[in-house]
Amino acid sequence: MDNNYIFLAATSLTQIYFIYRKYRKRNNICLNESYSPAAGSDEESALAIKTAENARKEGNVAKIIRLIHFNDVYNIEEGNREPVGGAARFVGLLNKLRSTGLPPLVFFSGDGFNPSTMSTATRGKQMVPVLNECKVHTAVLGNHDFDFGLVQLKKLMEGCHFPWLLSNVYTKQDKKIPLAGGLVKRLCCWEGRLIGIIGLVEEEWLATLSCVNTDDLDYRDFVVEGKRLSKELKKQGAELVIALTHMRLPNDITLAKEVEDIDIILAGHDHHYEIKKIEPYGTLILKSGTDFRQLTDANIIFNDDGSIEVTTKRYDVTAKVEPDEKTGKIVDSYFKVLEKKMKKIVGEVNIDLECRFSKIRTEETNVGNWICDIVKEETKADIIMINSGTLRADCIVPAGPYTIKDLISLLPMPDPLAIIELKGIDVMLALENSVSKYPRLEGRFSQVSGVAFEYNPNKKEGSRVVQGSVLVNGEAIDMKKIYSVCTKEYLLKGKDGYTMFLNRKILVEAENICPLPTMVRNYFKKIEVLNKLNREHFGNKYKVRNTATTMLHHSVKRAARVLNKWATEVHAVSIKPKVEGRIIRSI
Ligand SMILES: [Zn+2]
Repeated sequence: MDNNYIFLAATSLTQIYFIYRKYRKRNNICLNESYSPAAGSDEESALAIKTAENARKEGNVAKIIRLIHFNDVYNIEEGNREPVGGAARFVGLLNKLRSTGLPPLVFFSGDGFNPSTMSTATRGKQMVPVLNECKVHTAVLGNHDFDFGLVQLKKLMEGCHFPWLLSNVYTKQDKKIPLAGGLVKRLCCWEGRLIGIIGLVEEEWLATLSCVNTDDLDYRDFVVEGKRLSKELKKQGAELVIALTHMRLPNDITLAKEVEDIDIILAGHDHHYEIKKIEPYGTLILKSGTDFRQLTDANIIFNDDGSIEVTTKRYDVTAKVEPDEKTGKIVDSYFKVLEKKMKKIVGEVNIDLECRFSKIRTEETNVGNWICDIVKEETKADIIMINSGTLRADCIVPAGPYTIKDLISLLPMPDPLAIIELKGIDVMLALENSVSKYPRLEGRFSQVSGVAFEYNPNKKEGSRVVQGSVLVNGEAIDMKKIYSVCTKEYLLKGKDGYTMFLNRKILVEAENICPLPTMVRNYFKKIEVLNKLNREHFGNKYKVRNTATTMLHHSVKRAARVLNKWATEVHAVSIKPKVEGRIIRSI
């Protein structure tokens, strides 16, 4: 009896304790929610307005507020030339600046999750803790943030302790929430001042995203949306409207010229450092360099007549900057992750891949055809020419599991690609250049897709390509016709003897195309999905649907088109590229 009583009493006490904890927890949540509502929500705006009102009543409104801006960061490790950059020194500098003077708001203008060798392995994960250490207040999405697809981007965004804006891009299915779940705008109170923030991007890079079907997009002109949203924010009481942008400078200039209510443009996408004042509204555009090498520290001065003045200071992240210890540890830990990730199997190759320099720099190879076909399918260019100096593995990669290490040894550099216009006659010159040094093992020898030709190495340099042998996508080349050619950005500078690529009309610039290693990495991911779909086709329908939602259909279809070519089995899609007479040596 006594025992039972004790037991009951203990049970009730435990229950009371749990009810109390639940109550406390719920209360805490309520408190937190009321003090930090979801970013971009109406509650956040209402709270900001109220806080600013109170500050005004108490006379607690700052005359100057401080902003720190950076954009386009790729490598978390430092480089070997000054300013060396690196995430640890960058955060070290941020913390040092933060410890003196006014507390700053930190803004990031996009492009962080790719490209870098690390990202090829981690699909952008390393940048999440690093950006969190930067204590970013608000960011705008950049083109490279989409490189690993929408599902991966959303996962990365979820890990960030700050919100991402994308004010002028929606999907046709959802006209309220921007693409990737970005925010439309924010209204915040900082030091008693109401600040409105929007994030605008240009259509140019959006049209080239491989993870999104442009037909599904509802892109809204950045000037129209910039006007509408900045007006709304001013109406709500914003004393300063900041536009975070990820677009080329001429578009930023248009925005500054056209939209009166935007007070300052914190811009990305360009990698140089530049500060420009644009009339008629005297709007400042800031481009703060790249790769954790530079940042801008700006003061916004609110004059009594309602006008705003801006002063800026550029900082370079040199080797003299003391690195932040915690960020340094994050960087080191990701290099350990990279080591482990090297062993990760990304797929299966079903034939030996010929990557030896002795072959790849003198003849058509299966690996060259495979890589160029992936690029052709992604870019839809007429002709693909990849100089074999790009493909670095220098061995035969045996059939079997293909690892991140295999991929990084094949493509160790970010390898930006671009598409240019080239007349048939110049395509001939490019092919001549490709075979001009045979049999020397020169990196200029190109692997190709969309073009086939014969050459005679006994002929003089510059006249080796056999007349009448060149076919572009199965048809005889037309010397006057203009073709789209996708190649390495490096070659567009006339490197490796490709002077015929110099100063050509650029159809798609490198910044707007997925870098080559990312394309190949995504290709393996798509095969993984396709194979899952194939395996599950006769089994659990739910699973099929589940897998299908992780990838956009059209992007999987694209991979399927390359695959159909090489696929031999129905149930397991296999990679078996062949040499098929694209480059014939006529002796
Ligand atoms: Zn960019």
